[in-house]
Amino acid sequence: MTLSVAIVGSGPSGFYSAESLLRSREDVTIDIIERLPTPYGLIRAGVAPDHAKTKNVARAYEKIASDPRVTYFGNVEVGRDITIAELREMYDAVVLATGASVDKPFSIPGHDKEGVLGVAAFVGWYNGHPDFRDLNLNLDTEGVAVIGIGNVAIDVARVLVKTPAEMAATDLADYAAAAVHASPIKDVYMCGRRGPLQAQFTNVELREMGQLDVAAPIVDAAQIPDDIPPEVADEIGERNVRVAQRNLATLREFTEIDPTGKDKRVHFRFFSNPVEILGGDRVEGLRVEKTEVVDGRAVGTGEFSDIPCGLVIPAIGYYSEPIDGVPFEDGRARNQDGRIDVGLYAVGWIKRGPSGVIGSNKPDGDAAAAQILEDLPEGGKPGQAALTQHLAGNGARPISFEEWKRIEAAEEANATDGAPRRKYSRVADMLAVLDG
Ligand code: NAP
Repeated sequence: MTLSVAIVGSGPSGFYSAESLLRSREDVTIDIIERLPTPYGLIRAGVAPDHAKTKNVARAYEKIASDPRVTYFGNVEVGRDITIAELREMYDAVVLATGASVDKPFSIPGHDKEGVLGVAAFVGWYNGHPDFRDLNLNLDTEGVAVIGIGNVAIDVARVLVKTPAEMAATDLADYAAAAVHASPIKDVYMCGRRGPLQAQFTNVELREMGQLDVAAPIVDAAQIPDDIPPEVADEIGERNVRVAQRNLATLREFTEIDPTGKDKRVHFRFFSNPVEILGGDRVEGLRVEKTEVVDGRAVGTGEFSDIPCGLVIPAIGYYSEPIDGVPFEDGRARNQDGRIDVGLYAVGWIKRGPSGVIGSNKPDGDAAAAQILEDLPEGGKPGQAALTQHLAGNGARPISFEEWKRIEAAEEANATDGAPRRKYSRVADMLAVLDG
């Protein structure tokens, strides 16, 4: 009998799982359940607005969605419209592909002051995610400290210092563009608790920092080693050694850039562990302790300095949002290579934490498809018929893929200045496109 599978989440890991399942057997039907009317998860709401090429991968997902065995149910929220227990009753297999959408906890003294903003909210805000559309963001400051030296930290720093002209042909949310470009931000400090050899950003992303119209990268030459000591090479692994070598070369080039005449600066502050957020009710600065890296770990030296800033954005990684009926530990679903239980599987960041690039989600899809094939050779549960009936009974308003394409067409029609789209950032506005 046909196997019915529900995939919860329509980001990269959800679509790659659908693709693997479609390949793994003919007699399968797949329903992709998404909380927002809009699909594609991090491709729409996480990838930086000025990285349009990365977003082109959505075309491949569109092809997967057009397979007659796949149905999209947008605007259906697990927890609100249906529970995991109910889905497990209805479907032979349920695959969780909900990603990691909340900030990893960050709690140094002063972390609750006004002006400390988790990166999940900040990225969601500039990307037009409905959850963060109405964030009351105060950008009235010349200094911003971004904590962390990964690719998300780099994205945030870049979006804060690019000019309106540099962002014109992007899908930066219009309200975010207005706020960022009206702000007096001049100095963005990227604080890494470890050094350039341990930085998590990749080289293409780092190099972009040297190509900005009005912002210069500021790097202390004394913090950039000539080469990678063998013990560090062993510690970080062969692939990371290659990235670190390229990063060192780029950072050395940055030390030679003359910032004179540039209005803005992005300061790379390595060996700077944040220890306290300063100020009264509002943030006025970030205190960091100078560190040394010993056996790969940041060790404090007892030497402190203060960074003047009115906004602190910890970009230190994400946790997955807990889901009722799913065991969680360390910010992700407890699983054995993706298997949570027979009939319940995890893929992508909810399986393995927030790491890797978009393509890193493909093997997760393959693993889930193989496990489903092994655990459930025969289907039998009603799948979509039961879901549709359930949703009709509780007043949900599911959005089909064809309806999403109409929303997308309206976003594209509203775009100006070479931008790919002007996003709707309120669910009500998306529904109005469909229902008037
Ligand atoms: P990440 O790469 O894990 O970087 C997190 C950063 O936060 C690291 O520098 C880490 O330092 C630091 N950190 C963690 N806990 C900290 C703490 N308590 N105090 C101070 N610093 C702390 O995470 P991410 O930047 O969120 O990126 C997530 C994934 O998305 C990555 O795989 C990334 O490559 C990917 N991504 C890719 C792109 C792109 O390709 N353009 C763009 C965005 C995101 P330690 O190393 O010392 O722990």
